[in-house]
Parts: sequence; C-alpha cells; structure tokens
Amino acid sequence: MVSRKVVGPCLVAIVLLVGRLGTLSHAAFPERPKLIVLIVIDQFRYDYLTRFRPHFTAKGFNLLLDGGAVFTDCRYDYASTITGPGHASLATGAYPNQHGIIDNEWYDRTQHRAVYCVEDLSTHTVASQNGPGPTPAFSPRNLIGSTLGDELRAATDFRSKVIAISLKDRAAILLGGHTATAAYWYEAGSGRFVTSTYYESALPPWVETFNQRAPARDFCGQVWKALPVRPGDTGTVFSEFHPSPGEPCPDPRFLGWLNDTPFMNEIELAFASEAVRGEHLGQGEDTDLLAVSLSVNDYVGHASGPYSEQVSDTTLRTDRDLAKFFADLDKQVGLDHVWIALSADHGVAPNPAFIQEHHLGLGNAQPGAIRGGVEKAMSESLGPGPWVEDADELYVYLNRDTVKKRRIPEARAEEVAAQAAAAQPDVAAAFTRTQFLTGTLPNSPLARKAANSFNPKRSGDVFIVLAPYAVPVVAATGTSHGSPWNYDTQVPLVLWGDAFKAGVYAKPCQPIDLAATLAAVLGITQSSESEGRPLTDAIR
Ligand SMILES: [Zn+2]
Repeated sequence: MVSRKVVGPCLVAIVLLVGRLGTLSHAAFPERPKLIVLIVIDQFRYDYLTRFRPHFTAKGFNLLLDGGAVFTDCRYDYASTITGPGHASLATGAYPNQHGIIDNEWYDRTQHRAVYCVEDLSTHTVASQNGPGPTPAFSPRNLIGSTLGDELRAATDFRSKVIAISLKDRAAILLGGHTATAAYWYEAGSGRFVTSTYYESALPPWVETFNQRAPARDFCGQVWKALPVRPGDTGTVFSEFHPSPGEPCPDPRFLGWLNDTPFMNEIELAFASEAVRGEHLGQGEDTDLLAVSLSVNDYVGHASGPYSEQVSDTTLRTDRDLAKFFADLDKQVGLDHVWIALSADHGVAPNPAFIQEHHLGLGNAQPGAIRGGVEKAMSESLGPGPWVEDADELYVYLNRDTVKKRRIPEARAEEVAAQAAAAQPDVAAAFTRTQFLTGTLPNSPLARKAANSFNPKRSGDVFIVLAPYAVPVVAATGTSHGSPWNYDTQVPLVLWGDAFKAGVYAKPCQPIDLAATLAAVLGITQSSESEGRPLTDAIR
C-alpha cells in the first residue's frame, strides 16, 4: 500500500519528465527559415521606437514590436560607437578589440597615413560612373574573423546566399563579411548601386535594370514635407530642390539634394526588394541572409539632432517604408518563412544647442584643442617635439621617433600625454596603450568599454573618452556619436519570426547578442571571435 502510494506519483513524474524532455529536445531545434532579414538603421536610438510609436502604422515597426521579442535595454559595451565598428560588431558578435574595425578610418603607423576601414587598393568599383578610369573600391579585408553570414555560408556548403545592401559601402561590406555573395552600396554622384570586384566582375542584370530605371527620377519635383500625423497638420517643409531653368532631372545637383532626404530609404528598400526577386532569396533549400543598413537616418540625424522634427519625420517615413518592404517580402517569400532582426549601429547625442539650453553639459568638444594641449604639455615636461604624429577624438598616436630620440620610456610618454588629454574640460578619461597591454586599467565600466574598443595592432597610444554631452562637432545644430555614453550605445534589438517568443524583455543585453542568438537558433558555429550571448529567454 505504502509503496504504491510512493511509486504512483513517481511514475507519473517520470512519464511527465520524459514527455517534457521530448518536447524540449524537439523545441531546441526549430526549423530554419527560408530567409533571415537583418535590418540595421544607421543612427537609431532605442527611444525612437517608444517616442514615435503613437504615429507608427500597423505593419511597419509595429509588425516587429507587436509580434517579436523586443529588448528594451540593449547597449553596446564599448566606447567607439561609430558606423564601421558598429556594423562589424553586429555582424561578428564581437567588439573592435577582436574584429579590428576600430573606427571608420584610423592612422596606420607603417604607411604614415589614414586608412579607411574597408579600403582595398587591389579592387575596383564595378560599373562606377564617378568619372573616367577605374574607381578604387572596397572589401572586407580589414575585418578580422568571420561574420554570421560567413558561418551560415560555410554551414551550407556555400549554398546559402548572403546579400548586404546599404547606401554606405562600409555598412554593406562589414555586414556581409568575407564570403558574402555580394555587397551593394549607393554611388551618390551617379545615383546607382554598385559593388566591388572583390565580389563580382559585372553587375547582375537585376542591378543593371534597377539602375537604368533611375529610381531617383520618381522624386523629381518632390518636396520633403512633414507627414501629417494629426488632423489639420499642414506639414512643415524641410527642404526642396530648386532646378535651374531647363536643368534635367535627375542630375548630380538634384542627387546631392535627394541624398539628405528620407526619400533615400524608399530607394534603398526598393533595391532590397529587387535583390530578393533578382537573387531568388528565400526560394532555395537553404536559409539565405539579406542584410540592409538604412543610412539616411544617420545623415538626417547628424544634420538636425534626435529631438528635431526632421528626425521625427524620417522615423515615421522609415516606418511606412518598412511596412511596404515587409508586405513585399510576404508576397515574395511569405513572412511565415522569414525571420527579421532589427538593430542599429549606434545612437546619437543631442545637438550642442539642445545640450546647452538644458544645461546637460558642454555641448561642443574640441578635439583640436586636445591635440594642442598634449603637444604643449609633452614639450614642457619632456623637451621639444613634435610629440603627436596623429590625433582625432578617439586616439593620440605619439611620434615614436621623438620618443626614441629623447630616450623617454614609451609608458612615460603615454602617461604625460594621457594626463594632458584628461586635463581638458571636454575629456572624461584617457587611458594609455601600456595600461591596455599590461592589464593595469582601472577596474571601472568605462575602462572596460575602452578596452573593448582597443586593438593593439591598430589603436593609438592614448585612448580618449570625451565627457558626457561633449560632442565633437563645430556647429550648434549638427551633432554626432562615438562615445560610450548611453545616448550613443542604447539601440533597439528586436527578433521576429516563429523561432522567437513575442514579448518585452527588460533584461540587459548587447547588440553583439543578435548574431550569437541567430547562430544558436540556426544551429551553426558562432562566428570566430563572437562574445555575444544567445538571448535564450526569447528563443521558443
Ligand atoms: Zn553617423
């Protein structure tokens, strides 16, 4: 009697456990989708999703926000929040200390010049119309290690297609990785999408057709005016193009105007839809990856700042443009077979006028004064220079010839330079190369973020962290990003599709978790240096 009473529930428990394990092991391997669409919005703060949500349509951002796993506290844990590093971090699941893209461009000591993050002098732009002769092009050669796309390609014996698109060459190239089927970007001077000989020697017919149709022509005569969001809105005019008499459209002058309007997202997403069609994405046996980085949000944000009507209107238009793009994806592939991931490469600081008006901080930073201050302090305490070989708002590269000639230990020279930089009113902290290399950084979140940005082979001798709300721009209305402060680091992270549990997740995460989560759910190898953590709470 006694044993029956005990055994009965045990059996039930075992049966339940076996049943549960069965379900679990089945659920741990969701079916791969036909297509993954990664949408990166260049310069898009997390708060844009909440501030502007009352004016979103049903099937744009709200498609993802209503049906996806939405992370509300997703922040980059590094200190150089810039386009090149941000896209490389999203693609690799690692930070610049590993993937090596420390900035959009950096000073190269061996060549004594600045190198661009995706420059590759052995390549040419395919089908460039930027003047006579071959235009030098770009490749992912400077990116260290593999991306999500590279691992997906390798896992499927390169049957998966990986296509990356942006207005910016660096955004497309870094998102795609080394083995991308192709990366396409926009040649602003000619209004065409182009690529590099790194990927292919001629544009595929669908790209040629798209270019020949000259999509910019659809916007000739249009005015950039605020979308009406409330009854009675007449719409502020933000900018309009005034053609000279008889001037054809689209001509280079018009293209220059168009480039700073949110109409560019319409063109870019139309190109992305054509890529799905032309490359038959989502039609094969294996999962394809389409990565799209929307660049014009960054151009508008730099010019006007995050609290401007222009950024508000651009965000609402992005919502409408995405709704149209998603509807086309549904038609072409079927959204049931698609996963969509949304994030951004960085946020942005308010513009200096806003910062000063609300007493948040200095407003403008003066990187030129930092360089001058370092040169002066080093000359005074260590003898005549030149001591600074190159400097920008992130790094000081010391003149090693002078350091050698004056027989100053490198660590001492760096220390004097760092102290001089840190003494400037617009600098929060300065760390030395020796501190990074010897593990003697202060034990602080700020130092950790700087360390994630520091790559021993490419970084300078002093790493500068500008003070909160000290923005490296000259004008009061323009603004920028690139700091470790939350206005620059906090971005959206949304995962949408049948593999993810819809909901709002307040648990802190990082954008590098995006690639790690997708790799985990796909059941493929994590990219080579990925330190991102799969967001297991959100996985079905
Ligand atoms: Zn930017």
